Amino acid sequence: MKQASDTIPKVFQHLRVGATQPDAGDIAIAAAAIQAGGLVAFPTETVYGLGANAWDAGAVAGIFRAKGRPASDPLIAHIARRAQLDELARAVPEQAHELCRRFWPGPLTLVLEKSHKVPANLTAGLDTVAARMPDHAVAVALIEAAGVPIAAPSANRFSRPSPTTAQHVLDDLAGDFDMLLDAGPTAIGLESTILSLVDNPPRLLRPGGVPLEALRQIIPDLRFEPRFLREDDAAPAPGTLLKHYSPRARLLLFQGSDDTAVYAAMRAEIAGNRRVGLILSNADAAAFADLDVAVECLGRDVAQSALRLFAAMRALDSAGVDLILARAPEKHGLGLAVWDRLLRAAEGTLIEA
Ligand code: AMP
Ligand code: MG
Repeated sequence: MKQASDTIPKVFQHLRVGATQPDAGDIAIAAAAIQAGGLVAFPTETVYGLGANAWDAGAVAGIFRAKGRPASDPLIAHIARRAQLDELARAVPEQAHELCRRFWPGPLTLVLEKSHKVPANLTAGLDTVAARMPDHAVAVALIEAAGVPIAAPSANRFSRPSPTTAQHVLDDLAGDFDMLLDAGPTAIGLESTILSLVDNPPRLLRPGGVPLEALRQIIPDLRFEPRFLREDDAAPAPGTLLKHYSPRARLLLFQGSDDTAVYAAMRAEIAGNRRVGLILSNADAAAFADLDVAVECLGRDVAQSALRLFAAMRALDSAGVDLILARAPEKHGLGLAVWDRLLRAAEGTLIEA
């Protein structure tokens, strides 16, 4: 009988594929690795994921090992067809159907009651499962070819910023997975929105690529209470862990509508420190042009900020800064997700200016 180790290539493979029309031969190689229990990193429209056969508890365990992710943090199962949701979930309520019609494929993850087929380690022992259908030709082709849902958290070392390029994946995980499908930078740059339909009324667990406002058009009573817990809190709910998505450097997050006051507060912090980096919009960055500090510009609008935020954190870590200053964005649309990631990187502390 063939062993998994016979079909997973012994040598790591980095396959460059077209983002819209990936080569079927390359996809077949990656799908065979998934079927054999291997770990394949692949692009989605949000960030790169580290994928394994969702039905295979051994392969799923490999994801936790490679990432250094605690077993208490459940994974999202990625699907290519709606029928796969019926295999993952015990029951799919009408509201879920409506959300799928409206937002799939796309950056919306639904939490539903899990079916008995789902391995316990995928859901961290919970009786619910998180699933989504990604809007990326490479991800969809891989899931289709593998013929199984693919469990895939972001392909970063646990608690590091999520990877928006193939290079980020290699920087964090080289040597710890089997294959990389490289289709260039991802389109959104932040993770999916996670929506729990097992709560009544439904609850937003993580803001992401689909804005809260869009979901409220379908679920007017949707609840969202940001919960930021300390790392040592007992049994935090999934997704509420603080110190997540974070750079190695300490990050201070400033909030205020008065530009002058915010800039003054930031300058006071810069003055007392030597190796400081800034993560700011182009407009805010212009106010610090006279200073000799590392600046990562997020761009002109919130979509560009989402796209560049994690790369900016990584770039400042590489530049060796030990303090990062950033400004909290407006909390509407995609801005809520950017705000959430920055606040987690700042370990829950906002500095009012
Ligand atoms: P990642 O793909 O790395 O962004 O992580 C997936 C996230 O999905 C986890 O950190 C959880 O917050 C969330 N998640 C996955 N499964 C569940 C579940 N059954 N219930 C609640 N949250 C979940
Ligand atoms: Mg993650």
